[in-house]
Amino acid sequence: MPLAPLPSAFDALELFPAGARPAVFLDYDGTLTPIVSRPELATLAPAMRAVIVALSEVAEVAVVTGRDLDDAIALVGVPGITIVGSHGFEVERADGERLVLGGGETYLPALEAAAMRVERGLRSIAGTHLERKRFALAVHFRQAPERADEVVTLLDEAARDEPGLRLTHGKMVAELRPAADWHKGRVVVALTREAPQDTPIAYLGDDVTDEDAFEALGEFGDAPVTVIVGERASAPTAARWALPDVDAVRRWLQALEQRLRAA
Ligand SMILES: [Mg+2]
Repeated sequence: MPLAPLPSAFDALELFPAGARPAVFLDYDGTLTPIVSRPELATLAPAMRAVIVALSEVAEVAVVTGRDLDDAIALVGVPGITIVGSHGFEVERADGERLVLGGGETYLPALEAAAMRVERGLRSIAGTHLERKRFALAVHFRQAPERADEVVTLLDEAARDEPGLRLTHGKMVAELRPAADWHKGRVVVALTREAPQDTPIAYLGDDVTDEDAFEALGEFGDAPVTVIVGERASAPTAARWALPDVDAVRRWLQALEQRLRAA
């Protein structure tokens, strides 16, 4: 994986022919909204929503997030696009049809058992916040980064007692998720296979879970425009292009929309 600075995604715009209808996959937190101290405060800026609405008229837009599906639908607030929640376990298609994928429902008892244990354990770790999601337990520790090790130890122990779960790490968050071979990469590949052949593809994301998608899209060769957003752009990544921040994402999506309309 390249360590050198990646080229700007603005240089990749020419890979989208005018008049083409690309598939554009977008992570939410850290990509469409800046990372904030509490996840419920990560609302979408009206200017970003307007760009997504305009882009959805000339591209197949999908938001792909670790958030619960209903949470993501409410935050994005753009009807008629695909929303993928819970790292791919639940999907609402552009036409409103809902699916559970990856066998997510079989992990619900293990998640319930782990939730009670983690909730108890977190009482003695101040500054942390447990988010009970439909297909995951997330512990946020942005307000107490010095307690990250204690959080990880607690979740690690819970994961050992519930073999159906595994521990994953994000930015100031640790999560217990189903130990299924299902993630953002698998769902993005599944959705891409439904698109007409030679559909141009873009995927923009900022975090470790987006690396699954960057890698999985390699199945379609060098053509997918995989874009790492923000500070991870200087860490090893499977993405081929970069954007510095959420504002650059907005400008890039707008430039893409205008290019596609120029046909
Ligand atoms: Mg993110």
